[in-house]
Amino acid sequence: MKSAIDLLPTMVLDSLTSGILAVDSEFHVLHMNAKLAQLFGLDRERWIGRPAEEMFGSVETQVPARRLPLYRSRPKDNTRTHSREVEWSDGQRTLHLREDSGPLRDESGNFVGRLYAYHDLSWEKTIDQMKSEFISIASHELRTPMTSIKGSVDLILGGAAGEISADALELLEVAHSSCDRMIRLINDILDLSKIEAGQIRLKLAPIELTDPAELSIRSLKSLAAKDRITLSLESPQQLPLVHADKDRMEQVMSNLVFNAIKYSPPGGEVKIGLSAENGWVRCTISDQGCGIPEEDLHRIFGRFQQAGSPQRGGGTGLGLAISHALVTEHKGKIWAESRVGEGSRFIFCLPVAPALPAA
Ligand code: ADP
Repeated sequence: MKSAIDLLPTMVLDSLTSGILAVDSEFHVLHMNAKLAQLFGLDRERWIGRPAEEMFGSVETQVPARRLPLYRSRPKDNTRTHSREVEWSDGQRTLHLREDSGPLRDESGNFVGRLYAYHDLSWEKTIDQMKSEFISIASHELRTPMTSIKGSVDLILGGAAGEISADALELLEVAHSSCDRMIRLINDILDLSKIEAGQIRLKLAPIELTDPAELSIRSLKSLAAKDRITLSLESPQQLPLVHADKDRMEQVMSNLVFNAIKYSPPGGEVKIGLSAENGWVRCTISDQGCGIPEEDLHRIFGRFQQAGSPQRGGGTGLGLAISHALVTEHKGKIWAESRVGEGSRFIFCLPVAPALPAA
């Protein structure tokens, strides 16, 4: 019977722009195409029949093993296809790669190895970086004149240019709130582009999430009171610590509580609940507001995405995208659960901070 690799037409594989690697069930190299050899700087003849992990290890001395560009399925998961992004470096160059892998089978359907395809994402990453830089420069340039327009309108409204008619006052108030909205939008765009470009430095420390939760409630209490909305916090006496940036956690919670207030009816209740389970600390912000249609629950975490619910309070559609990026940056997860007309729950989880070694 022919082996799986004999069935692979080498010429076709060599014409592909992705790196291709085939390994047998013991993860020994069966074949690699020209692009793979070029990407990793490998001598292909030398590695046939030898362990694939050793091959990557031999060129990848600086990088921790978990970053090895070789997804190794557990034997019982051998039938799975897998896709992930990996970063590989030989100390001089760094490659950003997408690795797709799937099982190889013989004519009888038996598992005989895996096939890996590596797509070089370096160019996409460079373009992304340039885009983020452009947005950040453009936003900076916009923020300065906007701030001075707002300052001037403030002065006129305060009477610095003499008495103003009721009509002028009305128009100036529109200009003032539009300036506020524009500055908020610019700040949000700047913030998001910085997080996405990996340019924010998180001040990580072991913290209890009750601190940022209390701060966000304190800062939004008066806004909630305007609509007789009550804010409350439920937390166990002792919550495990998380390794997080306290200010950024307050930003995430404030975003979520602000939305909960914004989309709640007068007299509603907004709760922050903290709990711990299975190595995660969980924060739930729940409201009794208009709710979100099921088909929008994932979409709303994207940029400028708004759900079918009525738009109130001049939002930018970026608050959830920023919260998502920040929670992801903390190696956490965030999602929403909701029923239209009954309210929403926004939940995020952060891993419990590892215990400090005893002195
Ligand atoms: P926005 O500034 O528009 O509120 P966000 O990114 O914070 O932007 O939220 C995106 C969209 O998600 C909102 O426009 C709204 O449609 C929906 N949304 C967010 N939070 C809630 C909530 N608590 N209740 C109902 N809808 C919500």
